[in-house]
Amino acid sequence: MNEYLQKLFSLQGKVALVTGASRGIGASLVTALSAAGAYTVGIGRSPQSGSSFPNGADYLQCDILDSAAFEVICSNIVSTKGRLDILVNAAGISLSASDCVSANERFDQILSTNLRAAHQCCQSAASVMKRTGGGSIINVTSIGSVLGFPDNPAYVASKGGLRLLTKALAIDFSTYHVRVNNLAPGYVRTEMTEASFQNPERHAERLRRMVIKRWGVPEDLAGAAIFLASDASSYVTGIDLFVDGGWTAKGL
Ligand code: NAP
Repeated sequence: MNEYLQKLFSLQGKVALVTGASRGIGASLVTALSAAGAYTVGIGRSPQSGSSFPNGADYLQCDILDSAAFEVICSNIVSTKGRLDILVNAAGISLSASDCVSANERFDQILSTNLRAAHQCCQSAASVMKRTGGGSIINVTSIGSVLGFPDNPAYVASKGGLRLLTKALAIDFSTYHVRVNNLAPGYVRTEMTEASFQNPERHAERLRRMVIKRWGVPEDLAGAAIFLASDASSYVTGIDLFVDGGWTAKGL
């Protein structure tokens, strides 16, 4: 890479924290940010990450619903590494109606993780970022943040809420030079979507809506995440960056 591109996209010397990193998109983004040069810590509720992390990256067990535990992780990172530059909020859940005793329980659980806890993580990270000169927060939303999907109202509401939360925080955190942006995937093959991927009808129905005729893989998010995390996006805040194979571009 030449010096100009290196300066724009390198995360050398930066410190990153990724939630939802035990598998799927979050785990893949740990690899991406590490490859771009950042010391990266991934967190999840599982005792250890199911994905192998690159040399140098660390995994910590943490439930983001436990805001005090998340705050301690942010403070410890700053105590040991001197800074926190990047937060990726990739932790998220999608529950089916049969997983919950009522529609309200389903709504509360999904909103608690995908929106309330994500908000808390943004606040905790920003409060340490502002002490060290700023940073970049990337919230993983969805095409469901701008489009209605059937049978999953709480998930769509949580991602729509997160989308606008990002825009509100982009304004509030601008004082501290903390940028906040949305990274919005389309259909990506992970544990969350495996049932649809394996179901021939649902698989084909989703594929029909994609302009780029394949399901996404977690690695498809890498370039966009490095862009939003790096100085290449230093004049970018409050946006939605869709990595959706053209899903949201397609009408008929
Ligand atoms: P996934 O494979 O199910 O991974 C979800 C991750 O979130 C796991 O690492 C899980 O780890 C973690 N997590 C869930 N609740 C948590 C909590 N309370 N505290 C800490 N970690 C928690 O799903 P994915 O597809 O990679 O999804 C990643 C993000 O992308 C989510 O926000 C999802 O909504 C979004 N997204 C996915 C797609 C897609 O097509 N896959 C599309 C649009 C948006 P533990 O279980 O170990 O806690």
